[in-house]
Amino acid sequence: MNEKSITTITLKKINKKSVYQYIYEHRQTAKQQIVQDLTMGLSTVSQNLNVLEKEGLISRDGFFESTGGRKAQVIQIVPEYRIAVGVGILKNMFHLAAVNLYGEAIAEETVAVPFAQSDAYYDGIASSLESFLDRNGYDREKILGVSIATQGIPAPDGESVLYGEILHNTDMKLADFSTRIPYPCRLEHDSKAAASLELWNHPEIESAVVFLLNRNLGGAVITNHKVHQGLSMHSGTLEHICIDPEGPECYCGQKGCLETYCSANALEAAAQMPVKEFFPALRAGNDARLTEIWDAYLSHLAYAMKTANLLLDGAVIVSGYLAPYFKEEDCRTLLEKVDAASPFPLVREQLLVGTHGQYTPAIGAALLFIEEFLQSEF
Ligand SMILES: [Zn+2]
Repeated sequence: MNEKSITTITLKKINKKSVYQYIYEHRQTAKQQIVQDLTMGLSTVSQNLNVLEKEGLISRDGFFESTGGRKAQVIQIVPEYRIAVGVGILKNMFHLAAVNLYGEAIAEETVAVPFAQSDAYYDGIASSLESFLDRNGYDREKILGVSIATQGIPAPDGESVLYGEILHNTDMKLADFSTRIPYPCRLEHDSKAAASLELWNHPEIESAVVFLLNRNLGGAVITNHKVHQGLSMHSGTLEHICIDPEGPECYCGQKGCLETYCSANALEAAAQMPVKEFFPALRAGNDARLTEIWDAYLSHLAYAMKTANLLLDGAVIVSGYLAPYFKEEDCRTLLEKVDAASPFPLVREQLLVGTHGQYTPAIGAALLFIEEFLQSEF
């Protein structure tokens, strides 16, 4: 192949990608708009639209309201051209979430099977995954891959779990999944996967600390628009920040870790009722004991937020299972508590609250395949 034809092929790919990206970003657009904004010739744009439509990447359905002349056809990407699946593994259940090219969760499911380091368990995950895909009618060739979000910390090569004191899954291997699941697989730390989702939803964030308020507490640090991994992958594990050296025992072997105060498990233990019952009862406002428990919870969380913000002056994100239960009044209370203890007040805009609840890690893990696809030359 001579140099000239290589250049032509490269240019064609670049044009195709630019047209696709433009449509992706604008969600709905018209041909004339693309011609104008990309300063590309009409025939080049038409050619690329034809190719993209033929390959199934975009669709042309319907027309925009006429502004005088001929009505323009609506062009948009096909969000389910490819999908990725996230599996969120917890002690007593696992979550499944399918995500489209816009990073939207299009199907979610919880399977009440407790974790076990056994062939039967991993076989069960693989078969639940297939039934999930069947129930939602997903063609298998659309599946980019399956990300497993686990509570343990995966090794830098992503092949195994290095630290897994909650599930006792230190021996968990990527191969436990990839030998049973016929799609590309990856192993992700649930807290960092959750941070990926928050980052996806807030691409403007340069740096942040993420508090993953799940059944067990988790955390992550975002710097330079990326989730920080760390030398041995444990950046952001704020669940083991010590709140009180004489406090309750943590699963890590230490005492008084934030985990023992601010995990959903800790809240349930203090309230002696499930989270699902706790919040309606709390909001009813006639149980002083519950109000006190919630206030103590917010005090401990504010203490950790203050500490985290002193280390990283950026956004503070409340994410995971408990996040959708947070009301505006809780955010105000948190900010007041932080401000009372810190020389540097947090402003309301710095405090963000996630919306995907318990599915956050599964969705965030699946996004890694979506990001990879969007960056690829398709
Ligand atoms: Zn601990």
